[in-house]
Amino acid sequence: MEEKKIICPHCKQKLNKWSVPSFNFSDGLGWCTPFLYVCFNDDCKFFRNSWKQMDEVYGQKMGYRYMLHPDSGESSSIPAGHRDAMKGDIIDEIQESREAHELEERKKAFQLLTDYFINKDVDSILAVLLDENAFGSVRLKAAEHLGEIGDLRAIEPMANCKFSHEVIQKKVNEAITKIHKKNFTMECPYCAEIIKIRATICRRCGKELTAKTE
Ligand SMILES: [Zn+2]
Ligand SMILES: [Zn+2]
Repeated sequence: MEEKKIICPHCKQKLNKWSVPSFNFSDGLGWCTPFLYVCFNDDCKFFRNSWKQMDEVYGQKMGYRYMLHPDSGESSSIPAGHRDAMKGDIIDEIQESREAHELEERKKAFQLLTDYFINKDVDSILAVLLDENAFGSVRLKAAEHLGEIGDLRAIEPMANCKFSHEVIQKKVNEAITKIHKKNFTMECPYCAEIIKIRATICRRCGKELTAKTE
């Protein structure tokens, strides 16, 4: 069904998406849908007349709102005990489309990262990791990838960056350790130069290195 055409035939106002609560109404319809289209216009003829009718015919203070099933396109009505009943479950469509957009963007970012990984494009993966505006989950994956395919050149940029996300920082530290292990290197505890793990004297600062057990 096309979104734009979803209007109330009684008042011509756009129907709202309304999330169906988990309990069933007494009619036991079992809508089998996460949402229904409902007219929440309080001035809608259908809604106003339903109050009058319920009062006159049954002596009940309640009304009905116009409702449309999103899958079958069948229209029906839904009981409303008072004006504001059910309004708390109106789906915020602006928020919803924002979330859908973000999901799409995140998918794209992950796809791009996977391409970098397949092509062993370490520089591009590094760029993703260091991008403060990138999705956290994507940066986390980038750190993981760097641990797998990163070389010694990747260590400096990673070590020089302070990551505000604790989880990312942890993953980055793991990646650095992994790269060192593969290359039989370590960081000089005095000057942070990358040196061979077998070195007894740092080639940069000249400090003597006591053998570490690790
Ligand atoms: Zn209406
Ligand atoms: Zn040193």
